Amino acid sequence: MLLIDGHLDLSMNALEWNRDLTRPLAEVRSREAAMTDKKDRGKGVCTFPEMQRGEIGLCIATQIARYVAPGNPLPGWNAPEIAWAQAQGQLAWYRSMEERGQLARICDRAALARHVALWQSPLPSGEGGERSSPSEGIPIGYVLSLEGADSIVELSYLERAYASGLRAIGPAHYGPGRYSPGTGAAGGLTGAGRELVKEMRQLGIVLDVTHLTDESFWEALELYDGPVWASHNNCRALVPHQRQFSDDQLQELIRRNAVIGAAFDAWMMVPGWIRGKTTPHETGCKIETIVDHLDHICQLAGSSRYCAIGSDLDGGYGTEQTPLDLDSIADLQRLTDILARRGYSHDDITGIMHGNWIRKLSESLP
Ligand SMILES: [Zn+2]
Repeated sequence: MLLIDGHLDLSMNALEWNRDLTRPLAEVRSREAAMTDKKDRGKGVCTFPEMQRGEIGLCIATQIARYVAPGNPLPGWNAPEIAWAQAQGQLAWYRSMEERGQLARICDRAALARHVALWQSPLPSGEGGERSSPSEGIPIGYVLSLEGADSIVELSYLERAYASGLRAIGPAHYGPGRYSPGTGAAGGLTGAGRELVKEMRQLGIVLDVTHLTDESFWEALELYDGPVWASHNNCRALVPHQRQFSDDQLQELIRRNAVIGAAFDAWMMVPGWIRGKTTPHETGCKIETIVDHLDHICQLAGSSRYCAIGSDLDGGYGTEQTPLDLDSIADLQRLTDILARRGYSHDDITGIMHGNWIRKLSESLP
């Protein structure tokens, strides 16, 4: 079944991890076998062949480049202009993947409708030869998003970013931000952040509330009355941490007709996870664990309409921090059976796998 993934950091993997996502997963892993510069070397789960195998025909894919002021211990770039340049390098990589026919940029409603129809069209009955994958030869669509807005040097850059296809922004990421503090930090939008959100509304850029602090979350939603989503977020009621959303926040997102993408970072799926220490086996975190989060949101909403997938499965970690029964992003396809076993109807399942994202993207894109 077509699966839409609401959050992948594909270009970050290409440029910062130096991963060639066009290659088979085993090859990408083996080229990293001796490397120790990042904790997930040799443990990645996402490449284009695996996305194709998992019928992930469309994703929301990020540009991501943090600015770090002196003294900020997080990885990042020392000037907003350098962060902008990094994001432009990421854009160049997306473009070259389009030229290869590997990716297809989705900037508007018409392109979305065409792309979804392509992925849902029946297999041509070939003479003898069966395609190894239902999606072979069809590019993976991507809607361009920006995770953390630090690289927007000043507001005038926003229009340029929109012109090159940017359709959603999450103003915050981790730590302090030029526009909003994010995960692990506190406080509300900065002055520039308030202006950014208003300008996003003018241009028709979606507000991704993921990673906002609680203060910024409420402030941004008050300033912005356009389309909203949470690309990759789980439930604070199940995993008590500021990174997840409280029931009040989830209720507000439901009221605003948002879609919430369920994230498969094990740290966000089960409580008490200590990064770099806890292992998937210790916690028993499995793919099915995500259904507890989906259930929670469905119960708050009285419907599955707001639930979707935003796996984040290439977000700077690999199998050391994914569900223990997930070795490849293609394993997400098992969710259809898991959801059916947990009592979800066919309509609920298609909604979660792709229908809810299609609805939200159709409403949000120009
Ligand atoms: Zn994230």
